Amino acid sequence: MMDIGPPHQQAGEMPLSLSRRATLGLLTAVLARPALAQAPGRRHVLVLGAGMAGLTAALSLLRAGHEVTVIEWQDRVGGRLLSLPIGAGQVSEAGGGHFRANMPYVLHYLRQFRMPLIGLNDGLPTYHVKGRRIASANLANWPIPLNAEERGMTVAGNLWRYLIRAGLDTDTVLDAAWPRDLGMLDLLDRTTLGDLLQAQGASEAFLDVFDAHAGTGTRGGQALCNIPDLAYHFGDQAIVRVAGGNERLPQAMAAAVGSARIALGCKVVAIDQAGPEVRVQAANGREFRGDAVISTLGSTVLRDVAVTPALSAPKQRALETVFWEKTVKVVVQTATPSWLARGMRGWPVMGGDRPWERIIDLTGNEGGGHGNIFFYLNGDNAEAVASQDPATRAQAFVDRFRAEVPDFIDRTTFVEAFAWGEQPWIRGSFGLLPRGGGWVVAECARPEGRLHLAGDWTTLKSGWVEGAIESGLRAARQVDPAARAEGNPRIRQEGL
Ligand SMILES: Cc1cc2nc3c(=O)[nH]c(=O)nc-3n(C[C@H](O)[C@H](O)[C@H](O)COP(=O)(O)OP(=O)(O)OC[C@H]3O[C@@H](n4cnc5c(N)ncnc54)[C@H](O)[C@@H]3O)c2cc1C
Repeated sequence: MMDIGPPHQQAGEMPLSLSRRATLGLLTAVLARPALAQAPGRRHVLVLGAGMAGLTAALSLLRAGHEVTVIEWQDRVGGRLLSLPIGAGQVSEAGGGHFRANMPYVLHYLRQFRMPLIGLNDGLPTYHVKGRRIASANLANWPIPLNAEERGMTVAGNLWRYLIRAGLDTDTVLDAAWPRDLGMLDLLDRTTLGDLLQAQGASEAFLDVFDAHAGTGTRGGQALCNIPDLAYHFGDQAIVRVAGGNERLPQAMAAAVGSARIALGCKVVAIDQAGPEVRVQAANGREFRGDAVISTLGSTVLRDVAVTPALSAPKQRALETVFWEKTVKVVVQTATPSWLARGMRGWPVMGGDRPWERIIDLTGNEGGGHGNIFFYLNGDNAEAVASQDPATRAQAFVDRFRAEVPDFIDRTTFVEAFAWGEQPWIRGSFGLLPRGGGWVVAECARPEGRLHLAGDWTTLKSGWVEGAIESGLRAARQVDPAARAEGNPRIRQEGL
């Protein structure tokens, strides 16, 4: 375990080499000042990918007076906002499932496009840790050896205290330019979440419950890219999703861009910026020409695109450094949301050090009368399901869960497994950084000639639509500093 002192000591004591300081410093510099100094004339911008990052960038450039062409591999828009009808009028989410009140851009776009919302429940999950079942509603009687100051507190309450002690919180870490303090940045880049929390007094037992809540192995993740993730999960309990499916938001944005400007079914295979125009080649033979390119492709697939002249060595290393989770969601509709009657609710509603990992309750006040949940599996738990026969793996998984926890769900009316590693257009669910990988974000934010990279994974909010939107706006502003979010909102976290 690392010994981490209070933050005001860390910043002064940090043995930062000059080159490392310069590299990390770029992160704060690039994020704090995303815009170029001079406004360009009217440009034609090719936007690769019609997910939230691409559509945000396209719409903002269009509004700023430019022409855009969005080039998308699939025959649909939305990318990792991918909604699955499960019957009886209910809809599950294979990808982005929920939004929270501490996501200002997402809330703004939801309002701007008049999305109807479903409210969801957070709050009182049940944990299964080291063979014990812990009802989080029964705070006084958790049967595990928490230390004295951890007793009688929720996981969120304890986490907040440890973050404050470490010089962090769940608000300022969501600023677009966080962290501005180089010492803090370097510390979090080199540290796991578990080490960070233990240095502030967290017990092993607390970390066990923390992992049960946030997902198996969370404590082992690099702190820098995981702190904003924690701030979303624990910093706010007001949760919503879009009635009828979250992908309705990108669909509405695509309608605003205009279907004539969106080329579906075009898998980009080459980007050539050697000549006076930038040329983008698709696998179906179509070629697109423009003045600049914004790529929102995941690093998993961008690596396969032929770029001329070749990407710089640091950019190529950045693409190799990001590693992607291969999340599997086992989507289940139950006869009723029976857990509510037993006082269980939350995001997750149940979590543990078990192969079923976490159960997310999507039901909220959705109509239809059935329960709408999914098992959220990552790492080895995801791999264990993904490696089985697609025809039977979901039902077999649910049967095993019911044998272990017979009193949680009643009769099932729909069961399906969705494996993100199997989707050719992304080959993973979300990109993460290894320890020491903090430089990647600054590197990805730096344009290569007329090629600008975006996508949630190019921010510290990887795995969140808020990060996708921020990245799309950042790339659009690199093309034209006048580019703004739809409706030109004032977003406090961006300081604009
Ligand atoms: C399992 C899971 C759970 C999540 N949960 C949440 C959540 O609860 N809340 C939240 O806010 N976020 C969540 N997210 C994250 C959210 O879905 C993403 O942050 C966001 O959708 C990413 O948008 P993007 O535009 O950056 O990338 P993407 O949506 O991946 O868009 C990239 C687009 O590029 C296209 N493309 C790829 N290769 C090519 C090519 N060669 N040529 C042309 N097009 C190409 C793809 O088809 C895709 O449409 C979750 C994601 C997953 C996978």
